[in-house]
Amino acid sequence: MIATALLALSLVGAGPAVPREILVASLRGEARVPVRRDASGFPVVAAAPLLTALGGELHVDSGWADVVVARQPFRFLLGAPLFQFSSKLLPLAGPASLAGDSLYLPYQFVAEIIPYYLADQYRWDARRSRLEELRGRTTSLAGRAGAGDGARLPNGLRPGHVVTVDPGHGGVDPGNPGTFFPRGVHEKDVTLQVGLLLRDELQRRGIGVRMTRTRDTLIALGDRGGYCTEACDLFVSLHINSLARRRGYTDIRGFETYFLAEARTEDAARVAKMENDAVRFETQQDAVGTVGGLDFILKDLQLNEHLRESARLAELVQHELGGVHTGESRGVKQAGFMVLTTARRPAILVELGYSTNPQDGHFLTVRSSQKAMASSIADAVVEYLLEYERKTGANPDSGAGR
Ligand SMILES: [Zn+2]
Repeated sequence: MIATALLALSLVGAGPAVPREILVASLRGEARVPVRRDASGFPVVAAAPLLTALGGELHVDSGWADVVVARQPFRFLLGAPLFQFSSKLLPLAGPASLAGDSLYLPYQFVAEIIPYYLADQYRWDARRSRLEELRGRTTSLAGRAGAGDGARLPNGLRPGHVVTVDPGHGGVDPGNPGTFFPRGVHEKDVTLQVGLLLRDELQRRGIGVRMTRTRDTLIALGDRGGYCTEACDLFVSLHINSLARRRGYTDIRGFETYFLAEARTEDAARVAKMENDAVRFETQQDAVGTVGGLDFILKDLQLNEHLRESARLAELVQHELGGVHTGESRGVKQAGFMVLTTARRPAILVELGYSTNPQDGHFLTVRSSQKAMASSIADAVVEYLLEYERKTGANPDSGAGR
């Protein structure tokens, strides 16, 4: 579903598409600006030479960097993947940051944001890594459809959505051992691979992504949901199912999507117990605050409101996954996952398949099927958000584009 989002070329993150330098061609001549990696590996450009080349302005103060290009102000929150334009807070692939006295801006600013919001004045040539100032264009930008209140991404979504992606387990918690995975591959490795692909697919659709982890590290269960509070639309946790050894246990395969509620069936309770068991890997300090009955949490009205939304999101994900998964759809289920209890937004947990089944074991570790799963989950998220925008009146003419 959905056309390619303009704000999401494949360059975000650490793709090979990022050049070593960019060319800025303006009425003042041509300048080269090197592209570097920040501490987290995100591609960035030094703001000073960039703004000199663009004839722009730069001012850093109290945690914000104010950048003016073509008389349009962009505000970057230092250290966080967010920027403000036209009074909207929007997501970035990576943050603007200071190194010494130098400000670094995300490469995305040059390759996506300027050409999108200042399309009247700049054009980005991805093949030549060249940002070109268009001659003789002085059109005011205030009335530009892409920048005003009615701004829409090509897929119909409003810009600014953020999704938290939570690859299950990590670090000393391997998750399930991955009976039919290649040697040495555990649940934590596959959830991370699919999680990173899901990040790419969401960003391609113009959705901002926050990851609970991008490396092989342990994040306390009680902390994971905390990544999705104010500036977050929804929370997706990724896991791989497995069964204990018993007669015929390798026959069971397929995928299921959970949302948080009291477990309805014995099997759902089993899966919840298995995923909650990761708590034993956490240090005492990690565990503080993670204990707290589901009963108590379900009394939280805000969370209750999210239950119906979570169920709908789960339904869409389960449906979309059905289009690519070779195993059976085991349906939408409810269980008391600790990882979901702290999210203050609609939250789901996807069990992508069974590592204890040979076909699933293969399917889950092959890159092409990992990509297909990530893409289908991203499609479901877009569908959900479009539906949500329509329902809340945030996007009355959804689908009409901009
Ligand atoms: Zn798991």
